Amino acid sequence: MKAKLEIKVAQTAGFCFGVHRAVNLAKEAPEKFPGQQIHTLGPIIHNPQVVIQLAALGVRQADSLDQISQGVVIIRSHGITRQLARKLEQRPDLTVIDATCPFVRRAQEIVAKMSAADYQVVIIGEPDHPEVAGLISYGEPQRTQVISRKADIPAAFFTKGKTPRIALLAQTTQSQKLYNRISLALLPLKGELRCFNTICTATSDRQSEALELAGSCDCMLIIGGRNSANTNRLHELCKEKQNASYHIETAADIQNRWFADKQTVGISAGASTPKWLIDEVLAQLQQLC
Ligand code: SF4
Repeated sequence: MKAKLEIKVAQTAGFCFGVHRAVNLAKEAPEKFPGQQIHTLGPIIHNPQVVIQLAALGVRQADSLDQISQGVVIIRSHGITRQLARKLEQRPDLTVIDATCPFVRRAQEIVAKMSAADYQVVIIGEPDHPEVAGLISYGEPQRTQVISRKADIPAAFFTKGKTPRIALLAQTTQSQKLYNRISLALLPLKGELRCFNTICTATSDRQSEALELAGSCDCMLIIGGRNSANTNRLHELCKEKQNASYHIETAADIQNRWFADKQTVGISAGASTPKWLIDEVLAQLQQLC
């Protein structure tokens, strides 16, 4: 290990506004509703360490509504499907705390509005991601689809004589680059294209800063849950620019050999990574130095 290792931490590393809000609502719940069972529907955020911390406070994770017999239900920042929201409405015995991020809510409203106006809704995102599952559910099933790359754009959109009406939007944590690439590819279609840039600036700001760091440091650490889509994307983007980029969940994942011939290490973290996990990584790196 080198004696001098310069550490640069991204200002945007860690909790975004929506995650901060959701975690705070969950942390406050035991005090607001003493003696009641409190559950989140799915993990409140994609960070296992935060989920464990909340469980210690009495906020537990349920995987479905059927597992909750009473008490308080917290809807996570990714939001839920329209079908699940309706089921919740039929359970007046439960108190609902809606921690859906307002930016995700806006994207859900766009899907509902454009779908009702007979547009073909195209969502750029990961089909299995809970936020995307929620977004799709607000559209007309026959006219709402998810694509993950430019090659997924249906050829039928460009069929001669056809004039499709398309509303394009994205999962809030998608990369701006991919959104631009797909919207440009759709521009030549003969019809109507309405683009809604639903990518949250918290994500794009974090990506830009991490990329800048990856370009100026000779090693990058990206901290965050392995199940966190935005952390994985941050790592992928940094890896394209700086091959020595590593995704870690906690300080325990750090391997000394990564820094053997390095002088600067950049640090960024996903939107669902708490500050205390970043601080632990910093403390470990400083110890190594
Ligand atoms: S990344 Fe953006 S959209 Fe997603 S929870 Fe955070 S603030 Fe909301």
